[in-house]
Amino acid sequence: MGTAAKRWGFQGKQELNAASATTVRGYLNLLMANVSHHNTSPVIPLGHGDPSHFPSFRTTPAAEDAIVHALRSAKHNCYAPTVGILPARRAIADYLNRDLPYKLSPDDVYLTVGCTQAIEIVTAVLARPGANILLPRPSYPYYDTCAAYNRIEIRHYDLLPENGWEVDLDAVETLADENTVAIVIVNPGNPCGNVFSYEQLNKVAETARKLGILVVADEAYDNLAFGSTRYVPMRVFGSTVPVLTLGSVSKRWIVPGWRLGWLVTSDPDGILQKSGVIDSIVGFLNISSDPATFIQAAIPQILENTEEEFFSKIICTLRECADICYDKVEEIPCLTCPKKPEGSMFVMVKLNVAMLEDISDDMDFCLKLAKEESVIILPGRAVGMKNWLRITFAIESCLLQEGLARVKSFCQRHAEKQ
Ligand SMILES: *Cc1c(COP(=O)(O)O)cnc(C)c1O
Repeated sequence: MGTAAKRWGFQGKQELNAASATTVRGYLNLLMANVSHHNTSPVIPLGHGDPSHFPSFRTTPAAEDAIVHALRSAKHNCYAPTVGILPARRAIADYLNRDLPYKLSPDDVYLTVGCTQAIEIVTAVLARPGANILLPRPSYPYYDTCAAYNRIEIRHYDLLPENGWEVDLDAVETLADENTVAIVIVNPGNPCGNVFSYEQLNKVAETARKLGILVVADEAYDNLAFGSTRYVPMRVFGSTVPVLTLGSVSKRWIVPGWRLGWLVTSDPDGILQKSGVIDSIVGFLNISSDPATFIQAAIPQILENTEEEFFSKIICTLRECADICYDKVEEIPCLTCPKKPEGSMFVMVKLNVAMLEDISDDMDFCLKLAKEESVIILPGRAVGMKNWLRITFAIESCLLQEGLARVKSFCQRHAEKQ
């Protein structure tokens, strides 16, 4: 290796390559590379959660108009303050204040580059020597990536499929110690499609309070709930325990490319303020990049002008898709779905490899499925559960039917002969 190569550290680059190969995108890229070029039928993507290019999931014109208006005003070609522009922070505080027993102020809201950057901030801010964090299994793996990057020890608590993916609270108490900084919950759930009940969230809050830790509530799918369990935001329990809410317009408005999210502190008792968490958040924002100013500027109008009709139509579409997905999966003997999805865009399905002749595990299943049927499904190992699958149902319903029909014939073809 030459001196320049040594200087720029190829060792580090290999680590990056290894880390990115095990992200959701890494798995999906690998599967896409396995799709056979001989296969003329179109690829059916049941792997990722970005339905923005399907007609049934087009965002509302009200949001598009807000962006155009903000851009054309020529008032937002400037840099924004690092915490975000005030009208947007105020609009988000108002949006999140509905149903809250206390009131958030614009100062509690920090604008971020999608919910993704909010995850980066939270993990960076909570990091300290010896710290550990409680993450769900199955997980949204970016938390694991960011925790590892910030050298926070990861301790997984289980979501229990036999209990409708409820949090294993006994495990949470056993896993936590004096170095635990927070518990992360994702609600509505990615990857499980579950929605936590009020009672369950209350128990999480009480447990966190007892343990003296924060709750990080990832609500990227806020309000995308279509089952019998009502969606309740974690910050309702802000007086019990400090809550950091992470959200964005990506999923509810189906515009993940707009990269506008938020980190919100619910801290009616001033605990985050006293412990320096707030100062660290501002410090992080001062040295990182911001969402585009005109997108920030469009936020008040996006939140104000989106008609209820748009949300209810999307909820309706997701419910129909979830029903189709659940019913079709039920018809496939080697797959079982422990709980019908009630929220988000995903469902976790258990794969019984013993019923298949020449499939060794979830990865093998997904690779062969991509190759033979041009259907992309995420292997469960990508979210911490081997021999499970994560299926996205947020796609045009005719494509969903076609995709699952292909999965069925694939499973029939590979079934263990009696
Ligand atoms: C999509 C997603 C994110 C990231 O959201 P962006 O706004 O696209 O950055 C974060 N958390 C969960 C659970 C998600 O599904």
